[in-house]
Amino acid sequence: MNTELKEKAYSKELNEKLDKFKSVLSEIQALSVAGAVASWDIETQMPKLGSEYRGWVLSILTKINHEKLISEDIESSLQYLRREENNSKLNKVDKAIVRVIGREYDKDKKIPVKLIQELSELTSKSHVVWAEAKAKNDYKSFSPHLGKIFSIKKEIAEYIGYEEDPYDALVDSYEEKMTAKKLDSLFESLKADLIPVLKKIKESSVKINNAFLEKKYPSDEQIELSKDLLKYIGYEFDKGRLDTSNHPFTIGLGPNDVRVTTHIKENNIMSNIGSSIHEGGHGLYEQGVDPNLGKTCVGSGASLGIHESQSRFYETIIGQGMPFWKGYFPKLVQRFPEQLKGVTLEDFYRAINIVTPSFIRVESDEVTYNLHIVVRYEMERALLSGEINSDDIPALWSEKMDKYLGIKPATDTEGCLQDVHWSWGAIGYFPTYTIGNLCAAQFYNTLKKQQPNLEDEIASGNLKLVRSWLGENIHNCGMLETPQEIIRRVNGEDLNSKYFVEYINQKYKDIYGW
Ligand code: ZN
Repeated sequence: MNTELKEKAYSKELNEKLDKFKSVLSEIQALSVAGAVASWDIETQMPKLGSEYRGWVLSILTKINHEKLISEDIESSLQYLRREENNSKLNKVDKAIVRVIGREYDKDKKIPVKLIQELSELTSKSHVVWAEAKAKNDYKSFSPHLGKIFSIKKEIAEYIGYEEDPYDALVDSYEEKMTAKKLDSLFESLKADLIPVLKKIKESSVKINNAFLEKKYPSDEQIELSKDLLKYIGYEFDKGRLDTSNHPFTIGLGPNDVRVTTHIKENNIMSNIGSSIHEGGHGLYEQGVDPNLGKTCVGSGASLGIHESQSRFYETIIGQGMPFWKGYFPKLVQRFPEQLKGVTLEDFYRAINIVTPSFIRVESDEVTYNLHIVVRYEMERALLSGEINSDDIPALWSEKMDKYLGIKPATDTEGCLQDVHWSWGAIGYFPTYTIGNLCAAQFYNTLKKQQPNLEDEIASGNLKLVRSWLGENIHNCGMLETPQEIIRRVNGEDLNSKYFVEYINQKYKDIYGW
């Protein structure tokens, strides 16, 4: 065979392998979307008693996808496509697909199907038990479920394997290459920097009145406000929708179907504003991914940490910033003239940035938020290492809240039962919130350097500049790059806590005057 013929034959072989590989991946993708629709429905629409049956359906979908992922077809294709001489011939998208699926495959191949199914059934039930336990302040009924979830997760970590700590195996599935060691160092420096800031705030003589935020803001009007805020930041409703759920979330069901939820408390307007803008940030990310990647497994956010950097970027840095409210406050007053009578922009800005250590993470301020994550992180580490068991959680929770935030919850409902995540089996997930906060501050620092007129534009109501910068630099590429690559490319350095701590110090020094 002459060289030209050889090359043609090789290229044909490569394309055939790639097509076969992608055809199985399309099936996995379609089933995942079906599962995601079913999960969205659980949170927003499904009758309470439907949960057991739905759990069964989802566990079967999970099982089918798992079997497809570890099938002979995928195994042989991956072996071929990961080989350097073949991998180097792939385009950028196909290379990313091989990287992302290879990672999934390596993990899934190591975990027995039976264990994955057991976890899926357990977490479907646990989620319902958790919701009831939270409603009735009955941690005891949830504790055995939580204990079982951690023990299965420990088993999974052992199957996956790790270098230093079983926690590494779990956190890595949410944040590529993140380890307990790196997190220990980030959290230790945050504790060292944030606890003194909190102390200064507590000692400050500045007293902020935020009582007007707790007046009655009717639900219907709040829903209209949510929609308007989402449109204001650039969320596209012809590619999405807004619902309410117990725990707000965003879900991507394809390039033109990215749904968000919020929750409404009539006597707490900021709860809804915060959730709407937060989920809007996630929504903008998903809506901003290159639609050409939509039918592939890389057409979504790069990692949970990067995702959270987008939601926190909008919720806190933008949505709790003076420039944003210079533009939006008049609209808010127009909607709620009675509730905001006599309130100035300055009053409002201070009120929404009041620092009060609170029991509820999702309603906590920027200064204390990461301390809430520290509590959960340290608890997860201790449970996973066997240092404590699930019955120890309530007492330990109180102790750590007291130590870091200076408050002790009176009930488990406002303590260790407040978050849904553990009932889902999401262990190693909470640190992604802190990664998001740190990363958001890094991105904002870079954006401001590149766009010196940024804050004036935001104040004039122009949020397009923000969206297009994030779109070009972060959203568009989906998962074509790893989280670390994105952070380095955009900021020119790795993830660190420097910019976040600077941002917190500068902002709260202005507000609390020390
Ligand atoms: Zn989020």
